[in-house]
Amino acid sequence: MSSIFTKIINREIPADIIYEDSEMIAFNDIKPQAPVHFLVVPKKEIPTLNDIKEEDGPLIGRMFCVAKNIAKEMGVDSKGYRAVFNCNKDGGQTVFHIHLHIIGGKKLSFNI
Ligand code: 5GP
Repeated sequence: MSSIFTKIINREIPADIIYEDSEMIAFNDIKPQAPVHFLVVPKKEIPTLNDIKEEDGPLIGRMFCVAKNIAKEMGVDSKGYRAVFNCNKDGGQTVFHIHLHIIGGKKLSFNI
């Protein structure tokens, strides 16, 4: 069964898409936790961080390049932002198709 993010990639459900190329997509989070909150999602369906393979290295690396370019476009690069992957239940993952959260536009209160 395809994930909700694959449905967004396939335009089966709508999303506020802000970037797309042959191997990934980025869109604004439907329930933003801050003024800037978007997700970078590889088109390859990888359920969790635990499922990443050695050969996925370049793809995962590119997710950060795409993320920082969009962060710059949105004007949060110099003030800063948070980049987060959640993994499984204890990590707070709710959509089982890996995605990088970029959250910013305000001073974030929770520090790890
Ligand atoms: P997770 O909890 O898995 O790390 O993050 C999933 C994120 O996807 C959540 O922040 C949630 O608000 C977002 N999300 C879930 N469903 C949709 C959707 O249909 N559209 C968009 N744009 N975001 C979604």
